[in-house]
Amino acid sequence: MEIHVKIKRVAIYSRKSRPDETEDALQRQLQILTNMAIKNGWEWEVFWEIGSSMSIDERERPELNKLLRKVQAYEYDGILVTDADRLSRDMEHSAYIKKMFANYGVKLITTTKVYDYNVQEDDLMSDMMSVLAKQEYVNTKKRLLRGKKASAKEGKWQGKPPLGYKLDRDTKKLVIDEAEASIVREIFELYIGGASGNEIARKFDFEGILTPMGGRYTHSRIGRILRNEVYKGDTIFGKTACSKIEKYDSGLPKQLPTDEADQIIVEKAHPSIISDEDWEKAEAIRNARSQLPPASRIGKNPFSTLIQCSTCGRTVTFQLDRQDRLTMGSCKTRSYATDGSYITCPNQGLLLSTFEEVFYEQFTKFIEGMEDELEYIKFNMNEEEIFNPQAEIAEISKRIKKINGRIKKAQQAFLAEILEEAEVKEEVKTLRHQKKELEREIETIKHTPVESKVDVLEELILEFKEILLGTTELQPKEINELFRSVIDKIEYTRLGVIKGSRKAPFSVNIRYK
Ligand SMILES: [Zn+2]
Repeated sequence: MEIHVKIKRVAIYSRKSRPDETEDALQRQLQILTNMAIKNGWEWEVFWEIGSSMSIDERERPELNKLLRKVQAYEYDGILVTDADRLSRDMEHSAYIKKMFANYGVKLITTTKVYDYNVQEDDLMSDMMSVLAKQEYVNTKKRLLRGKKASAKEGKWQGKPPLGYKLDRDTKKLVIDEAEASIVREIFELYIGGASGNEIARKFDFEGILTPMGGRYTHSRIGRILRNEVYKGDTIFGKTACSKIEKYDSGLPKQLPTDEADQIIVEKAHPSIISDEDWEKAEAIRNARSQLPPASRIGKNPFSTLIQCSTCGRTVTFQLDRQDRLTMGSCKTRSYATDGSYITCPNQGLLLSTFEEVFYEQFTKFIEGMEDELEYIKFNMNEEEIFNPQAEIAEISKRIKKINGRIKKAQQAFLAEILEEAEVKEEVKTLRHQKKELEREIETIKHTPVESKVDVLEELILEFKEILLGTTELQPKEINELFRSVIDKIEYTRLGVIKGSRKAPFSVNIRYK
């Protein structure tokens, strides 16, 4: 199946890939590629690895990484290179890039050939979508995103308004929703007054204060409110990017603040709820509190009773080693035979930090899967569904209005002596009954927590991401609870018998619910 996608924007990428290549040769390459873009009428952007020596790690190329981040922001339809090996000569890395191109609908264009990985590797996305549907999805997404960027530049708000604001449907700008804004103000006041996110969350729980969608004010939710520039009147579009390429040594994804050039910042785009002064006070407090390294903030052990010895099934316990580091103890569980003899479970212990590296690497993939699912659900939902309760109430109110009109008409008909009193009474009674039903419906909508599946999933993903990035303020116990909500158990095996070596292999198998 041949799928033709009109190419509009390309990225041109060039670097030294052979030791004998001179800067001049690179310049000539760039010339050829830009000429090609001009000839085809494509918009282009150049990425050029300057001074990249041959020894440089294939994955440590800043310009390529910048380019890949933009690919993930659906910026391009194609990547233009002189040869396919310019991107990477490392097999694994190269496969990784191909997969990304396929997922983000990008073709690799060389001076002689166009590679469309999307068509070849149709199994990459989940079975929900056929290749064609996926291509359409990617194209639509690109179009939407580019449109969004254009309107972000005009200070227009994208998507769901944040707590404290409503969307002015005509101007597409945020206007203050007084009832919600008071909650935002309270959060800032309490925080500046010395309360922690956790304390604020408990206070709200205690007072039964819920989000407009009926959810709890968890303290990561509160944290995000405190960090949101929107409350001092600014909008920033495209500020966060959780990298799927760059990782810390521990295997956790790097949080890459996007280049300011990639962000669209509009200051004072809408009325502020919090003064610049107070917003900055809160920021200063936040920064002071986050000086602690992530590990100590995460606390000692979010894995309690989650890890199981794969050999004997016993729950792994923890202890401190001689250097005071948290360690998973060797199992040593005894299994007795009827004659009283026993064998000892040979599963060995491991430093918790070593376990965590592997665990988080696997868990990151799980979260990415959740994100894909969320995106898919959102993509297939129309705006009305996202703005759910208000739209529904408006719809019912319309029907009530109609009924009121009919009641009036019936009464007028009686006054004009068109209808008999009994008839009118019957008619009005029925209409009033219908009206009451509808009013009851509105009350139900207003008072039922209607946190949708999307909201729940979104919140959960955000919480997990903060854990992955080490920016969570959750207590170990709370992290443990969150893990438990998606993980049934984690099977741990370390049966290597390399005595005296710390490098015996181990495996971690996460069983999700
Ligand atoms: Zn065991």
